[in-house]
Amino acid sequence: MAGVRLEGVSKVFGNITAVAKMDLDIKDGEFLVLVGPSGCGKTTTLRMVAGLETPTEGEIYIGERRVTHLEPKDRDIAMVFQNYALYPHMKVYDNMAFGLRLRRVPREEIDRRVKEAAEMLGIAGLLDRYPKELSGGQRQRVALGRAIVRHPQVFLMDEPLSNLDAKLRVQTRAELIKLHQRLKTTVIYVTHDQVEAMTMGTRIVVMKDGVVQQVGTPQEIYNRPGNMFVAGFIGSPPMNFIKGILEQVDGKLFFKGKGITFNLSFVKLGELPDNKEIILGVRPEHLTLHQEESTTASVAFGYYIPCIVEVVEHIGAEAIIHAKTRGGEELVIRYTGENKIPKMGEMIKVRPQGNLHLFEMASSQCIL
Ligand code: ATP
Repeated sequence: MAGVRLEGVSKVFGNITAVAKMDLDIKDGEFLVLVGPSGCGKTTTLRMVAGLETPTEGEIYIGERRVTHLEPKDRDIAMVFQNYALYPHMKVYDNMAFGLRLRRVPREEIDRRVKEAAEMLGIAGLLDRYPKELSGGQRQRVALGRAIVRHPQVFLMDEPLSNLDAKLRVQTRAELIKLHQRLKTTVIYVTHDQVEAMTMGTRIVVMKDGVVQQVGTPQEIYNRPGNMFVAGFIGSPPMNFIKGILEQVDGKLFFKGKGITFNLSFVKLGELPDNKEIILGVRPEHLTLHQEESTTASVAFGYYIPCIVEVVEHIGAEAIIHAKTRGGEELVIRYTGENKIPKMGEMIKVRPQGNLHLFEMASSQCIL
């Protein structure tokens, strides 16, 4: 097993910088997820680690070995792609054994490894079938098995679950987590799906336009997003952003947006100047809803934000409420309360419960 290190790695295709000066230290045994929107450079990063692309600049290490210019076959990695890429004319057993035969691993050793991996993945009964006789989920397991039998130092996975239906994806996600716990091999996993990133990664790298935005554990990324991009990308439904300024009134700090005054006296902001343009960020699950008639005083004091309900999405145990403030800002609230779910057109009062995020408008960087 080994960790992977990227030092100042960039990849430029013509006039597109797919990856820009990336530094990353992936620890031995880590499950690291690269996540970001389409085109942000995730796959290019993975392909450079695999040796399928050469960096324009920078160095890549696997363990202590510098592998920047090594052939893929000499890097001791195994890749799993979204399209499985099984050989259609070979049975499952032979698909899994193929890479080992090429490496001239002794026949008994191949047999032992294939059966062990098949057992681990629950496909021991399928070894005699051809890929066309398998379901999508079973094919994906064979692709995983083919990687596992290699006993590589690092697994590289590029959206390996994206061809599976929603239910199978959730199930296979859990199996991959268990598999990693068992094998403890370093995994670099690419996905554009933030739920996959949050549930699978021991650490997550959020990328945008070839640039790393933040690296952290799922909890760090969710609780302390470093900028508005990360804040908006991780979390579903996404974080609400409200434009406004900070203002001191009678020694108390207030957030003032369009038609919104919100008391922030509980926030310790240090030396932040008044009248600074900011974005207040609050996740839908951190907005609480009060249905009783609001007194003018509590609204004036800024303890609640009055809104009108526009759309209610019922999702089993919870409801996603889309509401509009007096100033026309849209807020999304995740409601899991016991009370009656408000209806379209109803007036509600919304209150952010702690977990507030403040971003500087100009830079979009987090300041709280
Ligand atoms: P997706 O989730 O859509 O696969 P990604 O985050 O994996 O996206 P990459 O495939 O790494 O993104 O692509 C990053 C950028 O580099 C994109 O703008 C893409 O068009 C460009 N790119 C990738 N490969 C090449 C190539 N071989 N030639 C030219 N441009 C490329």
